[in-house]
Amino acid sequence: MRRTAIRRSERFVPTLGDRAADRMSGHALDARPQLPVARPAQADLIAAIPDAILSTDEHFCITSWNPAAERTYGWTECEALGRSVGDLLWQDADRERRVLSSFLGEGSWVGETTHCRKDGSTVAIRASVRALLDDDGRFAGVVGICEDITDRKAAEAAREAAEQRFTTVVASLDEGILVIGQDERIQTANESAAHILGTTVDHLEGSTLSGTGLALSVEDRDGNPVPAHRWPGLLALRAGTSTEHMELAVTLRDGRRRWLTVNCQPIGGATGVAAVVSFHDVTDRHLAAEDLAWAATHDRLTGLRNRQHLIERIECSLEQVDAPPVAVLFCDLDRFKEINDSLGHEVGDVALVEVAERLRSAVGPSCTLARHGGDEFVVLCAGGGYDDVVAMAERLIDVVSTPITLHAAGSVHQVVIGASVGIAFGSHGDVSTDLIRDADVAMYAAKKGAGSPIAVFDRAMRERAQRRLSTREDLRHAIETGALQVHYQPICRTSDLTVTGYEALVRWDHPTHGWLAPDDFVPLAEESGLVSALGTWVLQAATSQTAAWRASGRHVYVSVNLSARQLTDPELVATVEAALDVAGLDPSALWLELTESALAEDADAAGEVLHRLRSIGVRVAIDDFGTGYSSLARLANFDVSALKIDRSFVASMTSSGTDGAIVKAVVALAHELGLRVVAEGVERCEQLDVLRSLGCDLAQGFLLGRPTSADDPALAVESGSGTPSVALS
Ligand code: C2E
Ligand code: MG
Ligand code: MG
Repeated sequence: MRRTAIRRSERFVPTLGDRAADRMSGHALDARPQLPVARPAQADLIAAIPDAILSTDEHFCITSWNPAAERTYGWTECEALGRSVGDLLWQDADRERRVLSSFLGEGSWVGETTHCRKDGSTVAIRASVRALLDDDGRFAGVVGICEDITDRKAAEAAREAAEQRFTTVVASLDEGILVIGQDERIQTANESAAHILGTTVDHLEGSTLSGTGLALSVEDRDGNPVPAHRWPGLLALRAGTSTEHMELAVTLRDGRRRWLTVNCQPIGGATGVAAVVSFHDVTDRHLAAEDLAWAATHDRLTGLRNRQHLIERIECSLEQVDAPPVAVLFCDLDRFKEINDSLGHEVGDVALVEVAERLRSAVGPSCTLARHGGDEFVVLCAGGGYDDVVAMAERLIDVVSTPITLHAAGSVHQVVIGASVGIAFGSHGDVSTDLIRDADVAMYAAKKGAGSPIAVFDRAMRERAQRRLSTREDLRHAIETGALQVHYQPICRTSDLTVTGYEALVRWDHPTHGWLAPDDFVPLAEESGLVSALGTWVLQAATSQTAAWRASGRHVYVSVNLSARQLTDPELVATVEAALDVAGLDPSALWLELTESALAEDADAAGEVLHRLRSIGVRVAIDDFGTGYSSLARLANFDVSALKIDRSFVASMTSSGTDGAIVKAVVALAHELGLRVVAEGVERCEQLDVLRSLGCDLAQGFLLGRPTSADDPALAVESGSGTPSVALS
């Protein structure tokens, strides 16, 4: 610390006010100091005072120096007396001069400054300085009382630094902070508080907590209103109650509803602060939690209850010992897949939402309606009688069957979705999932049956369902382990009965049920999604067998049946190509048989698949022709090579004139369209004769050979001889 010594020649001459200047005029700067004469009592008094007291002459040389001055500055009285106060004490001489100039005009000055101690350190001083005048009113020096306020200043500086730190910390917090005074006014608010509450710090600070008009309403987490006097800040102020993690929903002035977690701490003592309220905006977290909780019991698409909630409700109803039976209605939409496939899944979703809305209106509030999954809805009715429940099922089918208008790709579609409903009744002790399963089984029976779209569950249904289920599992295993077999039935030229090809017909040697025909398990494979695997297996077996025949000199083709489901398999063409490749079979030696109804299901997609099959050289035949009510002209639009007339026409061809005429017309028209004709189910020689006379190209039937295994000697002979064992009449 630099001390500025004032040389005598440069000694400070104060700029005096007019009156003081007059009084001081003529006063020599180097005149002898006039020491104030203190009476002994005063000296004692001065000695006893804890503050430094010193006086100077008109040249500011020290004339008195009490013990407290010694303690404050470190200079003894002897060292101090006669020395210039500027030399001794001033740290900032310029400032001190300015102060003196200004106060001497007034006669006194009270203020704070910094002086130097003897050891070079500084001391913060609160000084009260007074000018002394002699008897003639001339300036005779000053007397000053200097209180050492170093500690107080340090404490103040520490407090200011702490406040500064507090302000910085509070300002940087994401948490909203309100410091509330004892008068219930907000003393300090940070930006986060203003931001969360949708206002400004200026608006908050100085306002009373309840008078800020910030919140239109406050609710607790259960939705109960919280009156202003129960708000955490006011509770802390008035009752000294602290709050931890209280969750409140606050509706702000601008109408926004925010969720806050609030902590509040009352502060006692004489700090002037009465409470600190801190809060977080947890709205996003709260909404996410609400959403999760909702999603746990609801279906997102339709907003209906979900399966999980349904099961809980059924369980709840079944727990009541004396309660009347509960009914579970399992409602499955008909033809919903068609909407999804033809108009797309988004339109399908719109349809589901509409159906859900209609079901909701039909069910009413006393029952639980849930989306079970996909296009399945389940209703739980507790306490309804049999007739009421059946009436409810009828209502469900009615509302679903009313046409729905859907908008897809800029066009409007009117679709009619039907529904089948299965009903199961349960009572105390039953298991909820069993009840749903039984209703599902009944629904399945209703859907498959030709009669009513409503079925009530009975035990026989369950047995059938169980059998279906176990067969399904066995089939899965059979496909995986190759426990199926392909039998081959010859297809012969009618003219000379030469075997031109074989139809591949799958068989299953079931471990307990024995040999099963395709009708016993192919539909099951279609339902359970196993048909592609089954079809692939048959294709591989049939192509490799045919390749073997051709390798041994038998120039035959193989005709493999495809199910409608396989047509929708995007891998179908690749699977066919791979099977031909692996077998090393010429594609022209493979025929694929498809029924009319399979082609009609999604004609455009089927046409596309047929075209791709034809482009790799595979031929397609229409199987069971005549049973699907499609016109021949329409089928000719497909890229097909042959027609197989269903055996029902062949069977009655010779007895019924109509069927004979139909066969005749079909053969003629097919030839017109360039298609070959195969007659199925030829059992008698006269049928063969008629077919031959009608110009039917090929025939297949028990007369010409039953389906049999490739290693059956009969088949080997037939193939080998090239003609079946039938005498040409
Ligand atoms: P389909 O394609 O019309 O096959 C001809 C069916 O008629 C065969 O029955 C055959 O045994 C039977 N049949 C042949 N000639 C005569 C006859 O003179 N009289 C009588 N009454 N029946 C005769 P199968 O083998 O029981 O096959 C039934 C149906 O199962 C087939 O009808 C076909 O639609 C389907 N199918 C067979 N194998 C497969 C396969 O590998 N995949 C698929 N998706 N379906 C298959
Ligand atoms: Mg067939
Ligand atoms: Mg057929």
